[in-house]
Amino acid sequence: MEITHLGSGSRGNSVLLSTDESKILVDCGFSLKRIESRLAMIGVNPMEIDGIFVTHHHSDHSRSASRASKKWASVLMSNAETARRMEWLEHENYSEFSDLERIAAGPDLSLLPIPVPHDDADNVAVIARSSDGKRASIVTDLGEATDELKKHLSGCSHISIEANYDHSRLVSGPYPESLKRRITGRGGHLSNYQTGQILDEVMHNGLESIVLCHLSESNNMPHIAESEVLMRICDSFSGSLSISKQDGPEFTHWLGQSEPERIVGIS
Ligand SMILES: [Zn+2]
Ligand SMILES: [Zn+2]
Repeated sequence: MEITHLGSGSRGNSVLLSTDESKILVDCGFSLKRIESRLAMIGVNPMEIDGIFVTHHHSDHSRSASRASKKWASVLMSNAETARRMEWLEHENYSEFSDLERIAAGPDLSLLPIPVPHDDADNVAVIARSSDGKRASIVTDLGEATDELKKHLSGCSHISIEANYDHSRLVSGPYPESLKRRITGRGGHLSNYQTGQILDEVMHNGLESIVLCHLSESNNMPHIAESEVLMRICDSFSGSLSISKQDGPEFTHWLGQSEPERIVGIS
């Protein structure tokens, strides 16, 4: 399986999961034009996308999902609450999933949605499994990790997880107090510290690669997120750690290959 972040942050998120026979986008939170141009950068024709899995209704994850699914004739997948909020129930390509029920997303790729606490949204993390049994996870927009999620993360070869904010930057920054409380609350986002702690808890010998994503542009910096997380895991982790920025794609991870492949020729 290959994992390519097309970009990640509060202005949009989308990750391409690709196997020999399946291509799935997890979230479609950029404009359709931008998603298509980012897929073109990695040589993927959008018409090859079999399905779009939407984690929750917030626009940085769902923005062009419906239009893309119609244009590319790909399946649009979400849970019932996200579909209700997005008014997708009548959508011709729509397919509803339930928490903790594995979805056959393609002949050699399945997806397992895990519920996570996030604001007023019915958000899910996703564990993707290829036919060789290897697993990769995409985990964004959550205030804390549940035991259920941690149990699944400890079986993954790859973890993409948000490191949204640096706690002291957020506290001393310009956001109003109510927003600061929301971000740090159970339904907010993960801080660098929390992400480091979660990774430490789920660490195992088979973990090959980690991508930190959904970094706040106001309350975080890539080098701060990287060093805070590494501080927690450097004794136990020998794989690769990368950061997905807002304007991707920059690299592709291949399961079974420890170093990511850099995507060349992007401006
Ligand atoms: Zn969200
Ligand atoms: Zn988000």
